[in-house]
Amino acid sequence: AVSTSAPGPKLEALTRRVGGAVCRAGDPGYEEARRVWNGMVDRRPLAVVRAATAGDIGAVVEFAKETGLPLAVRGGGHGVAGNGTVDGGIVLDLGSLDFVSVDPGSGTVRAEPGATIADVDAATAVHDLAVPLGVVSTTGIAGLTLGGGIGWLTRAHGLSIDNLLAADVVTAGGGTLHASAEENPDLFWGIRGGGGNFGVVSAFTFRADPLPHEVLAGNLVYGEERWLDALLAWEEWTRALPDAMQSIVTFFVPPPSWELGSEPLMVVRFAWAGPDHAEGAAVLAQLRAAARPDGEVVGPMAWTAWQSVADELFPRGSRAYWKNTSFDRMADDVVETLVLRAGEQRWRGTGFDIHHMGGAYGRVPEDATAFPTRAARFWLNVYGYWQDAADDGARVAFVRGLATDMEPFATGGTYTNFLGAEAPGPDERRAQQVDRRAQAAAVWGPDALERLVALKRRYDPGNLFHLNHNIPPT
Ligand code: FAD
Repeated sequence: AVSTSAPGPKLEALTRRVGGAVCRAGDPGYEEARRVWNGMVDRRPLAVVRAATAGDIGAVVEFAKETGLPLAVRGGGHGVAGNGTVDGGIVLDLGSLDFVSVDPGSGTVRAEPGATIADVDAATAVHDLAVPLGVVSTTGIAGLTLGGGIGWLTRAHGLSIDNLLAADVVTAGGGTLHASAEENPDLFWGIRGGGGNFGVVSAFTFRADPLPHEVLAGNLVYGEERWLDALLAWEEWTRALPDAMQSIVTFFVPPPSWELGSEPLMVVRFAWAGPDHAEGAAVLAQLRAAARPDGEVVGPMAWTAWQSVADELFPRGSRAYWKNTSFDRMADDVVETLVLRAGEQRWRGTGFDIHHMGGAYGRVPEDATAFPTRAARFWLNVYGYWQDAADDGARVAFVRGLATDMEPFATGGTYTNFLGAEAPGPDERRAQQVDRRAQAAAVWGPDALERLVALKRRYDPGNLFHLNHNIPPT
């Protein structure tokens, strides 16, 4: 056991216990190691442990328990709330544990917790298989999966958690538990939407679904004067779509590489997950006929290329603040709200996505996982991301403004993965005053929260894993 209260000797002990590198303030690489994807998050941990083996996970968890030092767990570091780093505590960085193996016979994939979406896609694509993950390939699969995992295959095959078969979880009690439908099913339920509240996942096993090497995918682009009609037409089109058709409406100012100017645009982005491209093209033609785009880029594309097409829009180190809501109907008042706000912001980066849900995602029973709601037809992700600290106020205000406008239309629940720290920068004091239980109820809903709190009491009564969208044990 570590007996001293001074951090120096404690960290010496930690260094002896783990195989991975322990990076401390002043060490080469510390400035990079303490940072996460969200550049607004500027914290100084005592040490960042880069786990070299799954065994290091248990050692760091044990060390944090013994010393009482706050513990941040980091997979890919993309968590917008910035919980992958911490002032004065220990960061368990799992980024080196990124091995992915595919068993094409059983259609299963085992992934270590530091793997990114790109790592998984690269391993599965050669077998014409895919795991439903997110739409930016640099994102870590760990945080993404534990929160839910929305992407291009959500309607075809469900969320990432709907394709999770099992996970190994290092809990606060020490030791590793295997969680699946058969073993520790309560824990398995909780980690599918409850985030990192119950332990550190050291391995994920997913079902992989068949997917052609090339998918039909692309963008239909609409200028501002057509937004109202195009959004209404898109909503009408989504009412009777095959599961294979996934689309996201994005309002944003396009990047310079698109060569489409600096005015905001509405873009219907889509991917057809079916084997028959002609069928996908016919489905898309219905939307094109209902709302003629001003421009489009559509065609077959290698799955891995399509998965990384948006990567350049989200550079690491961007300042970021996100909020989200689900909603069901796209009546005139909703459309007007969205279009009005879309026209208000003329900055590159900040914007919003409307994900069409339903399909396989919507058929999963509400209480099968801890994910907040299956009934909503749409999920709105409002994202501010920018480079200059001088823009913090305006960008955060935009995100909050649209999220507030949409509150009357919300169908309930919040997606933790599309959620920034409740109050960044100057508002930090306000955040501390927000009732954590009420916050958690707004995320998961009262029934699921009750179940999650019971699980938290069972697996982490001392709230060792508190740097996350937290489920308070009391
Ligand atoms: P991290 O910051 O490393 O982890 C986030 C949190 O998860 C940690 O604070 C910790 O609490 C927990 N955690 C991480 N690893 C473990 C582990 N092994 N065991 C237990 N707990 C752990 N989401 C979508 O659903 N679809 C998208 O298309 C999508 N696109 C995105 C694009 C960008 C550019 C960004 C920044 C985010 C995107 N997200 C998307 C949100 C994303 O799912 C979350 O940010 C997610 O938390 C990222 O996981 P990570 O491992 O990279 O993050």
